[in-house]
Amino acid sequence: MFADLHLHTFFSDGTFSPEELAAHAHEQDLAAIALTDHDTVDGCPATAAACGTHGIEFIPGAEITAEMGGQEVHILAYWIDTTSPTLMQRFSEFQAVRSQRIHGMVKQLNERGVALTAEAVFAIANCKAPGRPHVARALVSGGFCNDFDDAFERYLKKGRPGWVPKAMMPAADAIALIHASGGVAVLAHPGLYRMDRLVGEAAAAGIDGIECWHTKHNPEASRRYQKMAAELNRVATGGSDCHGNSKGQPLIGRIRLPYEQVNRLRERRPTPSPAT
Ligand SMILES: [Zn+2]
Ligand SMILES: [Zn+2]
Repeated sequence: MFADLHLHTFFSDGTFSPEELAAHAHEQDLAAIALTDHDTVDGCPATAAACGTHGIEFIPGAEITAEMGGQEVHILAYWIDTTSPTLMQRFSEFQAVRSQRIHGMVKQLNERGVALTAEAVFAIANCKAPGRPHVARALVSGGFCNDFDDAFERYLKKGRPGWVPKAMMPAADAIALIHASGGVAVLAHPGLYRMDRLVGEAAAAGIDGIECWHTKHNPEASRRYQKMAAELNRVATGGSDCHGNSKGQPLIGRIRLPYEQVNRLRERRPTPSPAT
């Protein structure tokens, strides 16, 4: 039995609907999947229902953008209470920050003579978590760029004319928020940060797991992070980070996490404090 614990739908910057995602998970013969859209859990109810029809275990989750020592890091949340008002309040704050950033990026692009509108970006995003991939798609569909990669290369990468710094919460706060919402926290794709000391720092901040297997980790990186997870007594997890068909063939199922790792992660769920 295998799981894929890192997946996106069109509720953030993926292209699959919850039903399409569940159908692909079924095709890949996955026993369990987690939905980890950026800064939103809006896709969870529909994905849970779609997984139910295929007999796939569904784990509600999200991918939170945070900051550790000035570096942007992503924290995966699993089994969070998607009905918690505190959590929903924080997510709506993250979403407001995302919208403001889109306006800032469009303004800077306009100043460079690129006549993109924020409305065009929001229409393409059509979700509560608009981000740079949506700006890239709007730039392509508006005829300003040749393709997605061209848009990032010319305008959206850090330091390019359309790039705007992102306001991020400290990773320790994100981890505390996840624990307070009944969930477990995992450091996403450490290989993408090129700063392995962040793994130890995340452990010190209370992270429960390390995403060792990821489609952008080579086998050597996966082994290195498994070793670090073992040394730090954290759960080694993995996921494909599939965004649908937005970047070629869907990645779902490319990472097949042995199901016992799901159980190890589940064991780390905080026990609710007894009422006194
Ligand atoms: Zn990420
Ligand atoms: Zn992701």
